Amino acid sequence: MTWSFSLGRLFGSELRVHVTFFLLLAWVGFAAYSNGGMSAVVENLIFVLALFACVVAHEFGHALMARRYGIKTPDITLLPIGGLARLERMPEKPMQEVWVALAGPAVNIVIWIILIAFGAGMPWETMTQIDSTAPGLLNRLAYVNLLLAAFNMIPAFPMDGGRVFRALLCLKMDRVKATRVAALAGQAVAVGFGFLGLSTGNPLLVLIAVFVFVAANAESQDVVMRSVARRVMARDAMITEYQSLSPSDTLATAAQAVIHTTQHEFPVLDADGTLKGFVTRNRLFAALAAETPRSDLAISIMEADIPQVELTSGLETVLERLHKGAPAIAVCTKAGHMVGYITRENIGELMVIRGR
Ligand SMILES: [Zn+2]
Repeated sequence: MTWSFSLGRLFGSELRVHVTFFLLLAWVGFAAYSNGGMSAVVENLIFVLALFACVVAHEFGHALMARRYGIKTPDITLLPIGGLARLERMPEKPMQEVWVALAGPAVNIVIWIILIAFGAGMPWETMTQIDSTAPGLLNRLAYVNLLLAAFNMIPAFPMDGGRVFRALLCLKMDRVKATRVAALAGQAVAVGFGFLGLSTGNPLLVLIAVFVFVAANAESQDVVMRSVARRVMARDAMITEYQSLSPSDTLATAAQAVIHTTQHEFPVLDADGTLKGFVTRNRLFAALAAETPRSDLAISIMEADIPQVELTSGLETVLERLHKGAPAIAVCTKAGHMVGYITRENIGELMVIRGR
């Protein structure tokens, strides 16, 4: 998801906001203005900021529980449906995943109990008037925290309840199958939300439906990819037929190579086959656009920091390193000679061929 921007860092995680979160703000503001004018808008904005803080607390519930199992959370993105804590990896044991998933809604329950202690009323009094200011800030916040907890406990992906459901299914079946079942449940729920949203004229519900549907599918594909990656070694995935450059080649030679091959990246190899780095098509185009003389050496625009793996390395390792932004992963013998390389694109092809 790239439609988001950073707000800063908290407890070692980058806090990001998805642009659609502002649709939620706009919808709440608009509803308040049409019901109660400017004073209602101000109160509702305070409410939404408080809600925003509760969503952040929910996500940090996941992140801090994951940290107990030694898992970092590089970023947390806030969406209208409550936010996504992107864990560096999923817990290995199903029960750990259950605890990480439950920690988010548990935070909202704790906030709800605290608000009740501070005098908030029972939620059903608030239920029908959530977009008006009549029930008061405290009551609405209490209601919304209960709603966040309940919504997230729906046993379907990508809600937290879906993770609990999947983890429990994992005790009976393999992870890929369990994920498919939980994702299908998520898509069924999404269709239900979409239908309800359309028939009651609630655009927010339709938006939630779209998110749930897309996210359920993405999770399913991600798990398929990881399961393929576990079974495949670097030597099964690597590109073995390619054109390489030598350290004395110029930008003009590299430009010819781009034209005459379908490659987007070219390894620069020593006379004895040792990898110096990769010249990418993007960097070459940038250099030519900046009117760098074509007689310059191609190694002047080379990316030298290329991760290397061995022939028998698992594809999971390769994926991890590609995620960190390398243009390619070199597959090398123990003596350091490159025998092939792996890109995102050819992993994509591998998934199509072996993913089913
Ligand atoms: Zn959650």
